[in-house]
Amino acid sequence: MACSSGGDQGAESKCSIKRDPSGYFNNPFPEFRFLSPFELFKLARAKNNKNLPSTEEEIDQTLPYKKNFDDVDSKSQNTVTWIGHSSCLLKMSGIYILTDPVFSQKRKRFRQPGLSLEEIDKVDAVVISHDHYDHLDYNSVIDINKRFPSSQWFVPLGLKSWFESSGIRSESIHEMNWWEEKSHTFQEGELTFTCLPAQHWSMRIAPGIDMNYSLWCGWRVMSSEKNVYFAGDTGYNNRIFRQIGNHCGPFDLSLIPIGAYEPREYLKCQHVNPEEAVKVHDEVNSKLSLGIHWGTLRQGKEHYLAPPRDLKYALEVANINEAKFVTFQHGECREI
Ligand code: ZN
Ligand code: ZN
Repeated sequence: MACSSGGDQGAESKCSIKRDPSGYFNNPFPEFRFLSPFELFKLARAKNNKNLPSTEEEIDQTLPYKKNFDDVDSKSQNTVTWIGHSSCLLKMSGIYILTDPVFSQKRKRFRQPGLSLEEIDKVDAVVISHDHYDHLDYNSVIDINKRFPSSQWFVPLGLKSWFESSGIRSESIHEMNWWEEKSHTFQEGELTFTCLPAQHWSMRIAPGIDMNYSLWCGWRVMSSEKNVYFAGDTGYNNRIFRQIGNHCGPFDLSLIPIGAYEPREYLKCQHVNPEEAVKVHDEVNSKLSLGIHWGTLRQGKEHYLAPPRDLKYALEVANINEAKFVTFQHGECREI
């Protein structure tokens, strides 16, 4: 069933996605559309308000690191650390999970990872939201696999062969469709992973070659103690997040993108802005949310410090306590 717009009916059901015999995934959301070549041209030419300081020292002042991982991690079995962009390290009942790990991408990056792979002692699982380069980084996959060969990889449909050809053992790759659920037993206990819908797209090479040939998604990770939602990359529509909230919420923690949203007319269908991120937080029924997908890579044309600023404003307008939806400094770790 496609996710039609309007009506409460959609909120009760679970939206699904159809795949052509050729392997192409058809986006079920009418809110999503691909930009025309002319729009892509206009997007490339649109004014860039990023205003990045020219020196590392200046960025150090406005986006300082907070290196408290060792301190917090040693005291709690449930933590979250923001590495940068959409890369987070979750610790749930002592089990370590990485979300969309990107430790390289030096060219596009203006803030280095707040926690390096060498500083991480254990990775039990990795969840991948989609194949865009800012979420799926070949070098990071290779390095994680080398350092933590027994880690389990949870990926959306169509990506298994990519991981196999990157050297990951077949039996460690869990390729899943929206709403599919899988439990895995680790040394410390069991986690359940649920692949969740998102309004986005996929491509690594070019349209016509691999565009939409693998799926895009969010993830729910659930332990016996905590329930966490990772939204991946997504645009907003008024159905999916209610469905996620109804079927998988409430969440103790949600990782929700808040950056790369300008110019709005071109990016609205694939990236939420802070105002929509607040709606996501509310609709999935999140007790605490962390704003991700900002402050790290040269992406989107909003000012590089706008996402947390706009998030504060959006929370105020929605009359939600700003302690409920926070942003971290790079490297910052907190108990959940
Ligand atoms: Zn993306
Ligand atoms: Zn992205």
